[in-house]
Amino acid sequence: MPTAPFDLLPSADPTAETIRADILENPGFGRYFTDHMAHVRWTNAAGWHGHQVRPYGPLTLDPAAAVLHYGQEIFEGIKAYRHADGSVWTFRPEKNAERFRRSARRLALPELDDETFVESLRALIAQDRNWVPTPASEADECSLYLRPFMIASEKFLGVRPSQEVDYYVIASPAAAYFKGGIAPVSIWLSSNYKRAAPGGTGYAKCGGNYAASLAAQKEAEAHGCGQVAFLDAAENKWIEELGGMNLFFVYKDGRLVTPKLTGTILEGVTRDSVLELARDEGLSPEERHISIDEWREGAASGEITEVFACGTAAVITPVGELVGEDERIRCPEGDNPIAKRLRKRLLDLQYGRAEDTRGWLVQLA
Ligand SMILES: *Cc1c(COP(=O)(O)O)cnc(C)c1O
Repeated sequence: MPTAPFDLLPSADPTAETIRADILENPGFGRYFTDHMAHVRWTNAAGWHGHQVRPYGPLTLDPAAAVLHYGQEIFEGIKAYRHADGSVWTFRPEKNAERFRRSARRLALPELDDETFVESLRALIAQDRNWVPTPASEADECSLYLRPFMIASEKFLGVRPSQEVDYYVIASPAAAYFKGGIAPVSIWLSSNYKRAAPGGTGYAKCGGNYAASLAAQKEAEAHGCGQVAFLDAAENKWIEELGGMNLFFVYKDGRLVTPKLTGTILEGVTRDSVLELARDEGLSPEERHISIDEWREGAASGEITEVFACGTAAVITPVGELVGEDERIRCPEGDNPIAKRLRKRLLDLQYGRAEDTRGWLVQLA
């Protein structure tokens, strides 16, 4: 279905060039936003309409808007990368578009077609392309982080799907997600909390999953950990993922294992890409159940040589240790050569430094 064109309502007060340059010098993550946002509205009667790129700014929502009470909301995360010739690209956006539709179905929101999803990114970048940072070197992992999201905006109290919905894309310049670069992180093994249950919303990228993970995240921080690892809700035995990243285990014999998707794990685009790139590295990828005991024993015996987490925001990050109520599973000492190689392969592709043989890159500007 061809998407409607996005009308442009330019900002009357865009950020001054010198201020933007200062921000791009040291953007951090998720702190600054560009001058515009994309917007499409949906009503049950009219479908998707009003495609527009307009000035970034606060939304006007009725206090009874459904999203504020019942959390009917979904989102995506995807990056725009500047290549050496100045062009701007994104990575496998059709995977995000497809996942956005899956999330929408689970949250009883209307599906946005894939073409409109990709076009909304392109329309926003057309306006804000000079907010895409230029990497100073190969080590400079800067990008423009794009955040599409959809909210239930109908004014009513009562539990039923909203008949009015708004879709937006906002953009935020980003430096590397973890300031420490690829220093191994400590992960907290939550025993009090679960992220997802069979039949629940684990596979959907919805705000509610994150809201439910915050108490566990606070617990992690109290124990000196930056992230939480969740086990399955049914048996409290199988490793699922982190609050916002998928997990991989590297074995001595070259197997690369990641928990199999069973509806309680978010299907990461990075996860899928790592599974494909692994073969180029001579690894044997496996998607299967992996228990916390296998992690414990594998780390102790040296059978497991590396553990890493992956996602769009932080790319690939080695896990140094798993900390539980009364245990500490240290990952083998080493400098995580496989995680580093996969990370480089992925970044080289995204920044246009390696040939894109799989057609994963899509030009935005
Ligand atoms: C977004 C997300 C990921 C990573 O997905 P990518 O598509 O690789 O960015 C993993 N787990 C959860 C829970 C997420 O929300």
